[in-house]
This record gives sequence, structure tokens and C-alpha cells, in this order.
Amino acid sequence: MANNNSDITGFDHIEILGAREHNLKNIDLTIPRNQLVVFTGISGSGKSSLAFDTLYAEGQRRYMESFSAYARSFMGNMERPDVDKINGLSPVISIEQKTTSKNPRSTVGTVTEIYDFMRLLYARAGEAFSYVTGERMIKQSIDQIIDVILQDYQNQKLILLAPVVKGRKGHYRELFVQIEKLGYTKVRVDGVVMDIQPKMQLDRFKIHDIEIVIDRIVVKTEDRFRLSQSVQTALNQGKGIMMTRDEKNEVRNFSKYLMDPVSGISYDEPSPNNFSFNSPYGWCPTCQGLGKVEEITEDSILPDKTLSIEKGAIAPIGEYRDMWIFKQLEVLLKPYKVNLKTPIEKFPAEAIDVMLHGTDEPVAVPSKKYEGTDWNTKYEGIVTFLKRQQETGSEKIQDWIKDFMVVNTCPDCKGLRLKKESLHFLIDNKNIAQLEHGLPI
Ligand SMILES: [Zn+2]
Repeated sequence: MANNNSDITGFDHIEILGAREHNLKNIDLTIPRNQLVVFTGISGSGKSSLAFDTLYAEGQRRYMESFSAYARSFMGNMERPDVDKINGLSPVISIEQKTTSKNPRSTVGTVTEIYDFMRLLYARAGEAFSYVTGERMIKQSIDQIIDVILQDYQNQKLILLAPVVKGRKGHYRELFVQIEKLGYTKVRVDGVVMDIQPKMQLDRFKIHDIEIVIDRIVVKTEDRFRLSQSVQTALNQGKGIMMTRDEKNEVRNFSKYLMDPVSGISYDEPSPNNFSFNSPYGWCPTCQGLGKVEEITEDSILPDKTLSIEKGAIAPIGEYRDMWIFKQLEVLLKPYKVNLKTPIEKFPAEAIDVMLHGTDEPVAVPSKKYEGTDWNTKYEGIVTFLKRQQETGSEKIQDWIKDFMVVNTCPDCKGLRLKKESLHFLIDNKNIAQLEHGLPI
């Protein structure tokens, strides 16, 4: 074997000399390293004696020996396997041949607990990149922020801003009152600087960005003290994040934490939990760390689009019967110029969408009992109905719904199980999922 296959141990082979454990007859053996090697043989030929009782046992023993005598006194001694010498052995793990639980949350990494060390490694040594721009995330001390401002904006007018709302809906009436109570008179709302007015509020259904105007200064080295006080205040109010706006109306982001200097998004300080797909701090919110999602799809609900609704096109409800939902559908579909006799393939896309996902508009079903009056009903949609049943229905109903579910790879994490922030911490260009699965970059 070529020498370049040797690794940190300096060996390119594992050499076993004089193995006599159990029924092994003083065996010498050379096994190539960094390859998948299989021991085969009839029952009783010594496969387990060699793999578990010799190789693994010796690896474990050497690991234990690396602890202090004091620590070892608690662990007990491990017996040396009956072997003269083993060269080229690196730390060992063993996964026994047993029927492992079918828990979809277990991987080789979690069963052997190696993944715990990988999580620690990524929390401490991983380099963060922005999931928006791909930029390397940076964090700056207060002094570094002040130095950058003094260097880049000397003699310029600058507004220091503390972000308090980023991309969220709401009227923020109370927030403006609070800000005023803190002694500030101006805010920047959706990019526009304005005075805080009595009873000020925003459109509660729109997404807003709000910053407090902390200070307006002309940047001068001799005024470093005032600048540093304002930067500290801005970082306090902005919970570690602040912004500057210069004379050209350009905004720049600064952060004590990991931040993308271009887009301004920031990450929390990483902890091992952030890299666990079994923790809400780390898992992909869409699949909760399973890497797969069960979806109710258009094709599973409408398997044969040549059929009409009357003939049973909507699989979960079947053929036409005297049922409320068919009456609702009749009214619902009218505006789309299709009816219960039209094959689904002739339906416009909006009609299918409203049929599956429902509408907020009331559906006016004519009353049989009181002629000339309508029942204003709510139509929630077939998919919404099934989803609700799936969460609250009996076991029998849930079984029935399984017929309309398709298991797909999670569209958000692409099966990698972790939230996007966690997948953007890299070591040697690999994120933790790529390292675990040996995936290409
Ligand atoms: Zn996911």
C-alpha cells in the first residue's frame, strides 16, 4: 500500500501480533487502515474474538489509560487482551450487532455519542457564514466599532440607530410610548427618520423595521468619549446590534455578536444545542429534525383528474352523496365556470387551489327549509380539513388520512435536519451534517 495512506498514527496498516484471545491460535494479522474491512468466516472461527475482544478491547484499554490514576480508580481496570502487540491502532468505537431501536432520530453519530463531540467542536471552532449572502459573519468589540466609525466617517454627520423591531408586523403603539419614556424623541420607521408623535401607531398588518435614533453627531477623533457613550447606549438598546446612517443615507450594521456585515442578520452565540437535530434550538423548524415531512399533496387527493367531483374525483370524500360539502363545492366553484360534472382536468388552477385550501369568504349555500335564504358557511378546504383531522382525529381517522399523505424530503433543510443558521457554521468548508454523512460539499 502506498505510504500516503498513512495518517496521524504514522501507520498505513494495523498490525496484530500474537493474538490468543479465546480460541484464536496465536494469530498475526495486517489490516489496511482507512478502508472498510470485513471479517467473514463460519460460526466459532473467531471473528468476534478478533474484532471485539482483541482490537476493540485494546483500543478501549488505551483510552482508559489516558486518564489520571485518580480518575481510573473510579472506572476500574480494563484487562489487557491476550495479544503480544498491536501497532497502528487509533481510537476505537464499536457498534454491536443487535437489533437497534427503529427511532428515526438515531444515527451512527448519536448512538455512539460521537455526534456530541462534533456538536461541541462546531459550537467552539465552527466559522459562521451568512445564510443570506454567504459572507463570513463577524463580531466586533465596542472599541473596534468605535475605531471603524472614526476611521470611515471622520468629519461626517452620522446618525446612530438602535434596532428594536426587524421585519415584524404590528402597530407598536406601546413601543413608541416606551421609547419616549426612555427620553428619545426620534425614531426611524421603515427607513424614514421621524419625531415620535402622541398616540403614534403603524399599520398593524404590514411588516416594519423600527430603530431608535440614539444620537446625531459629527464624527471627530477628539469627541471619542461622546461617540463611545452613544455606541454603548445604541448597543444596549439594540441588544448588541446597532446601525449608522451617513450623509448619503447609507446604512451600516454593527454587532457585538456574529453578524453579516452586508445584510445585517445576526446569529446567537453558538452552543452545542444549536447543532442537535433533537433539540428545538437546533432542529429545522419545518421537519423538527426528522429530515422528512409528511405532506398531503394535490395528486394524492385528486388521483384521477379525468373524473368529475360527482364521480368521485376528490378521493377523501368519494362519489356524490347528499352531503353538505358537495353543496358547498357547488356554490364555491360557480365563479370559476365549472361544476360537479366537470372533469377536474378542465378546472382552472385557482378553482383547484380554493377547493383544496379553502377561502376566507363566506360560502352562501341556499337553504332548503327556508326558500330564498342562504346559509353563510365557512369552507376550510380539503387539505385544511385533513390536516385538522390528522391532529385531533381518532386513530382510525388518522390511519385513513395516511392514504393521502406522501413522505418527502424536507424542502427547507433538504434532509439535513438542522436549522439553516446551524448549517452555516463550517469547519474546513464542511457543515456538521456534511461531516456526519460524508456528503460532498
Ligand atoms: Zn427540515
